[in-house]
Amino acid sequence: MAKTPFLALAVAVAAVTHGHLDHVGGLAELQSAFPEMGIIMHSNEAPYLVGPRKQQAKYSSVPSDNAAYTIVRSFLQKLLPQPEADPARTFLLSGDSGDVADARANVTAAQPAWLPPRGVLSFLRVPGHSPGQVALLHKPSGTLVSADVVMYGRGLAHLDADKLLELPFERLFPSHDDGTGVVPGALRKLVASFKQ
Ligand SMILES: [Zn+2]
Repeated sequence: MAKTPFLALAVAVAAVTHGHLDHVGGLAELQSAFPEMGIIMHSNEAPYLVGPRKQQAKYSSVPSDNAAYTIVRSFLQKLLPQPEADPARTFLLSGDSGDVADARANVTAAQPAWLPPRGVLSFLRVPGHSPGQVALLHKPSGTLVSADVVMYGRGLAHLDADKLLELPFERLFPSHDDGTGVVPGALRKLVASFKQ
């Protein structure tokens, strides 16, 4: 009897742009479903997501440039479990920009199951919205994931939005995007409108 073919899918690595609940709410399930999965984040974001809870700073005390989020967060944090990354499989980015391939293990002995090869994925730290928020640029496709620096549909650009214009992207996918993304010209207009 022929065996039924199936496709085994696995997530090798999760890149966390920042630790707000609407971006890491599924982290626990991902870690459980994919035990080998690595987790990448900026070292400035790590105190809120990695390590014993008692040693972590309270995320509710982190200043945010988004008043609406600050209010919603204060309620959500009482209702929802705080996402926590497994320290042994967390890899940290440092500095203001660089290649994701240079992420270093949070625990010295830990070895990444997989990291993007050099030249594929780069990061730019954009901390105006949270201490260690990063935008991620997939170089081969020119795709930029801006996290909450730009929010689709709300015309909302955070403090670091003009930094993104320095990156060689072809299409930017804002948070809460409908999947179509925006081109550099649209971001230029948005940034200009905030400076008027
Ligand atoms: Zn956010």
